[in-house]
Amino acid sequence: MSNDLRGLYQEVIIDHSKQPRNFRRIDDATRSVEAVNPLCGDQITLYVKLVDGRIEDIAFEGAGCAISKASTSLMTTELKGTTEEHALEVFGSVHAMLTEGPNHADHVDELGKLAVLSGVWEFPARVKCASLGWHALKSLLEASGETVSTE
Ligand code: ZN
Repeated sequence: MSNDLRGLYQEVIIDHSKQPRNFRRIDDATRSVEAVNPLCGDQITLYVKLVDGRIEDIAFEGAGCAISKASTSLMTTELKGTTEEHALEVFGSVHAMLTEGPNHADHVDELGKLAVLSGVWEFPARVKCASLGWHALKSLLEASGETVSTE
């Protein structure tokens, strides 16, 4: 990865961590779940409003490090308005990108802005931070409804 691209990715992550998008509670959410990453101290509550298989609204609250906030913020901007099915596909791609590296993710070209998270896999301690919101999402869409822990 070029230094220019790396710098740009860092800028996007810093921006989303300082001003997280969709950082609020959804009062009429159809589902919500709490997710914790004890290793870092990240804690989020993710809300979704599902209407006819579509994510009509998605938002989160909580406290955590820059990576966990930025990753969850980016997730909400990319998935708002999409179908549950598409969201699970994106989860699969992001999960592969974070745990195995960007070359192992299917549909990596569809990741759009989420590609800024591609550098995280080189830092194993941060992978749990970056994937916290995504595991919460998967739990919500599969309606297991249990508190998610990355441990
Ligand atoms: Zn963290």
